[in-house]
Amino acid sequence: MEVQERRTYTAVIGLEFHVHLATTTKMFCGCRVTYGEPPNTHTCPVCLGHPGALPVTNEKAVELGVMAGLALNCDVAERVVFARKNYFYPDLPKGYQISQYDEPICTGGHLDVLTSEGRIRVGITRLHLEEDAAKNVHVGTSGRMHGSVGSLIDFNRGGTPLMEIVTEPDIPSPEAARATANQLKEILRAVGVSEADMEKGQLRCDANVSIRNPDGSFGTKTELKNMNSFRFVERGLVRELERQREILESGGRVEQTTLHYDPETDEVHELRSKEYAHDYRYFPEPDLLPLELSPAYVRELGAQLPELPDQMLARFTRQYGLSEYDAGVLTADRDLAAFYEAVAAEVDPKQASNWISGDLRALLNETGMDISDSRVTPGHMIELIELVGSGKVSRSAARTVLGKVFETGDSPSAVVEREGLASVGSDELSGVVDEAISANPDEAERVRNGDKKVVGFLVGQVMKATRGNADGGRVRELLMEKLGS
Ligand SMILES: [Zn+2]
Repeated sequence: MEVQERRTYTAVIGLEFHVHLATTTKMFCGCRVTYGEPPNTHTCPVCLGHPGALPVTNEKAVELGVMAGLALNCDVAERVVFARKNYFYPDLPKGYQISQYDEPICTGGHLDVLTSEGRIRVGITRLHLEEDAAKNVHVGTSGRMHGSVGSLIDFNRGGTPLMEIVTEPDIPSPEAARATANQLKEILRAVGVSEADMEKGQLRCDANVSIRNPDGSFGTKTELKNMNSFRFVERGLVRELERQREILESGGRVEQTTLHYDPETDEVHELRSKEYAHDYRYFPEPDLLPLELSPAYVRELGAQLPELPDQMLARFTRQYGLSEYDAGVLTADRDLAAFYEAVAAEVDPKQASNWISGDLRALLNETGMDISDSRVTPGHMIELIELVGSGKVSRSAARTVLGKVFETGDSPSAVVEREGLASVGSDELSGVVDEAISANPDEAERVRNGDKKVVGFLVGQVMKATRGNADGGRVRELLMEKLGS
């Protein structure tokens, strides 16, 4: 009899990012880098590929490339050669893209990523500089090439400084891929290399994905292209892994292919049935000298690096006594981290962490907002934590207060006043506790006889009577006192 072998599937994911660098001008000419301006208003003979126009390397782009590499723990090359990547497409007027090939600016780094299953280290294979292509605008209802009546080209984007970052296939799950993309974005923003706004197309992400064979070897990988939000990176990978798993389970073979994730249908579609290795006929760019990056130059740029997310995480655990997990949650978003620090400077840092990484973040997640869009200010948070600390508002009522502050932007004390959420005073509370005892004589008797389990019921009765405006711990204490237990 054949024994069905139980197969376990392990995902193997590598990511490739294209990042617009935060320079004011383009990679090889003086045209301004712009977003959302009228088409073809920022062009010149260089970025339009006129014959005889000569490129000049943008020094700031090189600086940002080096700083990004250092922030990602890469080795910076002493000599960097630009190369021509030849291919024909309407968005590429020269017929080649200036890129870097076998002598990229940075290699061999890593970034550490906090996932729900712990910390993982994702290797960085390489980082190189290149220029972006122009933008094709497909005329028609869908906005895609398919079904459009014509294509227009906007050369404003052509020549925008671009950094390509390729990771090792070290990422074990779609969730970890999303966390990796997010961590990379935070690092790039911290260093000031890029705003890395996915909606503006400043950060684009492709993924290579396969399922490890039972013998441990790599399976056939497919490429998932152009995912334009962190959520879609995760969703697209989930769908693609499901697709590969179904193929393998039905005894089929995964074909090497390029796919596109459609968020509207939550499905992956094949773009090309077979991905041939393109022959780009790379050769060194004869119009540009190799870059010579001296160790002193690299050291100088390294000294300008600000505190990176990892370092901030370590500092949060040290300075505020937070767990690595809480510090990771707070430092995963630079704006949230700044909000936290403003609050933690005034009140107990652990309380601040509980409220911000717990309740406030839950409200942000529910509404899909960032902290910068939120009406809650650090001042509100400090006031709320002080109201709880002084016993003026119970912990549970304070949650309601935060919800209202989040909705209206009113101060916590104004909300407490308006909604009648102040804690019941101690004399009044004592009376409510007495009432609860006399209204539930059997339960009270059981507590007197040492049955502590029933106390919770009586606490519940008191909380109900005060509409939650009492401190549960204090109520329990009072009950125990009065029942001599
Ligand atoms: Zn130009």
